[in-house]
Amino acid sequence: MRILFFGPNGSGKGTQGAIVKEKYKLPHIESGAIFRENIGKGTELGKKAKAFIDKGDLVPDDITIPMILDRLGQADCKNGWLLDGFPRNVNQAKMLDEALQKAGMGLDIVIEIVLDREIAKNRIMGRRLCVNDNNHPNNIFIDAIKPNGDKCRVCGGDLKTRSDDQDEAAIGKRHDIYYDTATGTLASAYYFRDKAKAGGLRYIVLDGKPGVKEVAAELMGKL
Ligand code: AMP
Repeated sequence: MRILFFGPNGSGKGTQGAIVKEKYKLPHIESGAIFRENIGKGTELGKKAKAFIDKGDLVPDDITIPMILDRLGQADCKNGWLLDGFPRNVNQAKMLDEALQKAGMGLDIVIEIVLDREIAKNRIMGRRLCVNDNNHPNNIFIDAIKPNGDKCRVCGGDLKTRSDDQDEAAIGKRHDIYYDTATGTLASAYYFRDKAKAGGLRYIVLDGKPGVKEVAAELMGKL
């Protein structure tokens, strides 16, 4: 099973991706996580990528594309994968498509979480982290997980924000890339949506507006 997962920052893509990964027992390949790992280890790749990542720009295709294709060629990916964060532009989509065709492999499912840009931005900026446990969900813009005043809704602990969640300019830049339907990430999703019309590949659209549980239920129903 080979699956691509699209969704803007703030759409709950990480949470829903974990559900898909669990259902099909697939390795979860996240381009952003691979970059972060390389930066952490101080590799050549990490050093090259860091400057772009810090600015909120895409890492150039000549670094990103071989890195992902190499990762997909590793042994744990033999029976499939869930790819998240790649492709992010049309060139990456075409190169992935070409590489899969060359390898005689096809994609099975493409999932797109649809969420309005303004809502996605609010969700990121509304995120609050509990000092006692990062997994306690708190978001001042989501009714179902609104904090108790300024305290964690789960344990009453103090709440803080992640600095990159409050950087409106950086969020804007990332969303500019995602919502670009000409050459950006949505364009790359639509590249596969067009291919799905010919059959063989399923393109699943999820409404990201409801809560995590509702989106997960819709996802499970459609898989
Ligand atoms: P993410 O964790 O997916 O938000 O990715 C973090 C950062 O890694 C992005 O802001 C980009 O700078 C870089 N990155 C991740 N995936 C890609 C990609 N497919 N193409 C180019 N840059 C990427």
